Amino acid sequence: MEEQDNVFVQTESQLASQTTKTSPEPSKKTLPNIVLTNVTDFIILKKDLTSIVGPMGFTCKANRSNIIIRSNTRENWMAIKSYLIEANYEYHSYLPRSSQPFRVVLRHLHHSTPAVDIINYLSDHGHKVNSISKITHHTNKLPLPLFNIGLARNNNNREIFKITKILNTIVKFEYPKRRPDPPQCHNCQKYGHTRNYCHHYPRCVKCGSEHSTDECTKQPEEPAKCANCSGNHTANYKGCQSLKKILNRTKPKVKAKKINKENQPIPTLAIPPPSRRNGNEAPSPNSKGKPSYVEIAANKPPPDQSLYIIIKFLDELKSILNPLLTVLTSLINKITLPITPTP
Ligand SMILES: [Zn+2]
Ligand SMILES: [Zn+2]
Ligand SMILES: [Zn+2]
Repeated sequence: MEEQDNVFVQTESQLASQTTKTSPEPSKKTLPNIVLTNVTDFIILKKDLTSIVGPMGFTCKANRSNIIIRSNTRENWMAIKSYLIEANYEYHSYLPRSSQPFRVVLRHLHHSTPAVDIINYLSDHGHKVNSISKITHHTNKLPLPLFNIGLARNNNNREIFKITKILNTIVKFEYPKRRPDPPQCHNCQKYGHTRNYCHHYPRCVKCGSEHSTDECTKQPEEPAKCANCSGNHTANYKGCQSLKKILNRTKPKVKAKKINKENQPIPTLAIPPPSRRNGNEAPSPNSKGKPSYVEIAANKPPPDQSLYIIIKFLDELKSILNPLLTVLTSLINKITLPITPTP
């Protein structure tokens, strides 16, 4: 299945222009992190930012290749961005997880239903829709009675699952079946942010060079070059090893969290007391040195999980073997036919 027509998404500029009237506590919750990639001298950066927004106006966190800047007010966030553009830093932003939309899938509503009708209905029932898109069949591209919906984070988000009827249709709201691939930027082709939040140099999706895709002069017969892995495919190729690496990096975390949640009602010896069960919390002093349950779960799936993997594997094997058998049978028929003596 694929997404189509993003009817309404919040862009960075919309975010910046939001007034405090619509969101009383906006700064801490919705301000995107700013990720800088080409910093050579942190002290200069720190000095400049301090002179612009004051010593308490920002915090930094460095990882292997980036510096992440957070800021405490919208004014400071805007001022920092203006400075970064002026000083020619390459950066991008993205919404912190806590501000990312609450994603649901709406089932059984006819595909011709205008997005605005769904948005209005949900708004009347206390849900603010940030994005909505139709889902089409992944091969024949025909529209399906499915909609991807992103709600603004709120305490009542889960109430949406109680809605069973919209516009005289018996519907069902569900969690998305699969985590969507990380967003890919149409400006620099990197994963994890979108063009609206990007201030990197443009990279071409076709030839990987430092120009926007519209300006590309590559001829169709020339081979493509990936901006991320330099392979001979376009940068949006789903089989790109850069994308695979990112997906592999995020997979075990999801698995561990899921297992953690599912096992909650049945405590066993392997599960630490409830207070320490959240995988993100720092371990308490007496657990020092011991692997956490999340770590154990990530390395060794419990029996239920193994069974699921085996069943899934058998299913996949079946789907490969069936067409193979058909081909073999027809091949045998072709080989054996001429040998059969004619009457
Ligand atoms: Zn980008
Ligand atoms: Zn190009
Ligand atoms: Zn690639």
